[in-house]
Amino acid sequence: MTSFTPAAVNPDEIGHEMHRLVAELYPICRSITGNGVRETLRLVQKHISLAIHEVPTGTPVFDWTVPKEWNVADAWVKNGRGERVIDFQRSNLHVVGYSVPVRRRVSREELAKHLHTLPDRPDWIPWRTSYYNETWGFCLAHNRLADLTEDEYEVCIDSTLVPGHLTYGEYLLPGETTDEVLLSCHVCHPSLANDNMAGVALAVALARHLAEQPRRYSYRFLFIPGTIGSITWLSRNEAATANIRHGLVLACAGDPGPLTYKKSRRGDAEIDRTVAWVLKHSGRRSEILDFSPYGYDERQFCSPGFDLPVGCFMRTPHSRFPEYHTSADNLDFVRPEALADSYTTVRAVLSALEHNRTYLNLNPKCEPQLGRRGIYRTIGGTDAAASELAMLWVLNLSDGRHSLLDIAERSGCAFEPIRRAADLLHQHQLLEPVTTTPGAANPRRAV
Ligand SMILES: [Zn+2]
Repeated sequence: MTSFTPAAVNPDEIGHEMHRLVAELYPICRSITGNGVRETLRLVQKHISLAIHEVPTGTPVFDWTVPKEWNVADAWVKNGRGERVIDFQRSNLHVVGYSVPVRRRVSREELAKHLHTLPDRPDWIPWRTSYYNETWGFCLAHNRLADLTEDEYEVCIDSTLVPGHLTYGEYLLPGETTDEVLLSCHVCHPSLANDNMAGVALAVALARHLAEQPRRYSYRFLFIPGTIGSITWLSRNEAATANIRHGLVLACAGDPGPLTYKKSRRGDAEIDRTVAWVLKHSGRRSEILDFSPYGYDERQFCSPGFDLPVGCFMRTPHSRFPEYHTSADNLDFVRPEALADSYTTVRAVLSALEHNRTYLNLNPKCEPQLGRRGIYRTIGGTDAAASELAMLWVLNLSDGRHSLLDIAERSGCAFEPIRRAADLLHQHQLLEPVTTTPGAANPRRAV
């Protein structure tokens, strides 16, 4: 079993641990409901004490209804010699997700109507689903079609599509306040590594890290089937959404492409500005995308009735890598170093959120004499000048109305030196944190 040692902060080590978890979860045949999701959540439970929720089929969830539960034991197409020419046991992508049970002989022409291939990528098996339209089908590599020369085939999909449950996992890490950071990933894809298991591994690694840290915020992790899972969670937890201050949907977090952040619907929420600032100062190529109502579960979290400050953290967006939803999204496509990079970046984002406070300069009439207090030029090293500049910016803008993120943005400094400067000035009683009430004209001192 993969073990996330709390001390594993070495990027190499954490990347390999995350990759091992992806590899452990990869073979499971998942869908939006069914035993594959349960098995996945039980494996995640070995790392974090996840609560598993079961919501019955037929439960109304806003404009939707929790669907029937789907499970599949086996599926194949056999030729006249009884050989499996398409075999679910070799790849769970071969069966169209949510296929109704079928077992009969069909002509080659009829079979062809139920086959899906990718002519442009003839070696890859596509992944297809039919959640809300009851049908059956198989997916296969396009170059295997030529093997299907017989007039008749026997097809079998040994599946069940019956009333059951939708299953999701939830893990709440309480902090000093009930204000929450929501971190959500999807658990509904079968053997696809980047699109979805990399997000799961990232969420698990972050949960393990945060559990060891002092936390101002509470952190809520969701492991849910895409779309119907977030709709179901929102419908059952509408009141709890009032506590969500920031959120990220974690998806496609393990491919070798550069980091990408898709902003929340608000566009200028603290999470949007924080991720943008961390990426800008990361020294690596990255991209910020505006919100669009297409993508992962941010579509639901950012629907107008909720409009939560939830963005989407990814590497290459789903529409931009050809391996997306094919057998080529495999364990080789996901790289330990990319997983580690996603992990350290989101950690930096969460750390910035934790420390983004607003302070009041307690000596606001002219600059305080820092040398007398022994804090001018006390931060050694080559970045001493930058640290001093950060201190001057923090002192100047800490009028109770500018957060540390505001100061970082206005000064052009990275967040960390601004935060360190504020910590030092706070230690020397030159700053005091204030609490700001949204819209209040006068900030109050923290009690
Ligand atoms: Zn997907």
